[in-house]
Amino acid sequence: MPVPKKRVSRSQRDQRRAHDALTLTAAIESCPDCGAPKLRHRVCDACGSYRGKKIFADNDTASSADE
Ligand SMILES: [Zn+2]
Repeated sequence: MPVPKKRVSRSQRDQRRAHDALTLTAAIESCPDCGAPKLRHRVCDACGSYRGKKIFADNDTASSADE
């Protein structure tokens, strides 16, 4: 198993991670119910369904901050 030769300093580590936020590494797939793009393992923002279940109602009418 490969082992890093030297400990990476906080500065080096953080410089490497500076661009991590720019690209979304989480998988984006389309919702099986409405077809809108959604993040994997997340409730669909557009229709509010997850794995065939309705978690919250469509937010077409009221966009309340209820989770
Ligand atoms: Zn959906």
